[in-house]
Amino acid sequence: MRNKFIAGNWKMNTTRAETTALLQALLQGTSAIEKTTIMVAPPFANLQIASELLQNSKIKLGAQNMYWEDKGAFTGEISPLMLKDFNCSYVIIGHSERRQYFRESNQEINRKIQAAFRHRIYPILCVGESLENRERGQTLGVVEYQIRNGLAGFTSEHMNDFTIAYEPVWAIGTGRAATPADAVEVHSYIRSLFAEMFDSTIAESTRIQYGGSVTADNIDSFICEEHIDGALVGGASLKADSFLKIIQAAEQS
Ligand code: PEP
Repeated sequence: MRNKFIAGNWKMNTTRAETTALLQALLQGTSAIEKTTIMVAPPFANLQIASELLQNSKIKLGAQNMYWEDKGAFTGEISPLMLKDFNCSYVIIGHSERRQYFRESNQEINRKIQAAFRHRIYPILCVGESLENRERGQTLGVVEYQIRNGLAGFTSEHMNDFTIAYEPVWAIGTGRAATPADAVEVHSYIRSLFAEMFDSTIAESTRIQYGGSVTADNIDSFICEEHIDGALVGGASLKADSFLKIIQAAEQS
């Protein structure tokens, strides 16, 4: 049975002091949360302080990206070993900003997921269509392409505790969320694709988050849907009160 999973992607936001204040408020506000998995992904520079603050807490630590090699001459990159040092249990892979601004390819994403599995860091694979794709009726084709290529070579044995975040690019940071019906159509499609690529057990156990302008005001409309297992939240995860409301909504759903 899938439990709800709320993840906060802080992107390139928060100083060390802001990280501390935000995490202290989240720790306090989540003391009664029991069923929902909660994860935050601060910038790399603040993983150390976050790791210290979140020690022995129910809030999991995640990273926003990582390189696939363990070490070496890869200036500016961070390795899975380093994330393990910070007790990161999750890593976001293939976020649309990485695909768009840093030209990350599906092959690179595939190597990153391989590295995450190798080091037992749970990957969250982000997929989603551009506005142009959607207007041309290519949404499901694009999502399928990203999933088939991002997960090429993987078998059912790899896919325990896997999370997909469906994030339509046009909804990220724009204040224009998809409708729950749009999201459900894609989530159901992803589940049927997983049944075909892997098996029905993997399809049923994979958590599929929706991401794209999720707020405290619209979370209820998404989280009540059977195929929406949580949310990957950007902007609204940067304020304790809005992120806590989103977590509460998931807990009560
Ligand atoms: C994201 O960064 O993954 C995201 C969904 O951002 P926002 O919630 O701000 O749209």
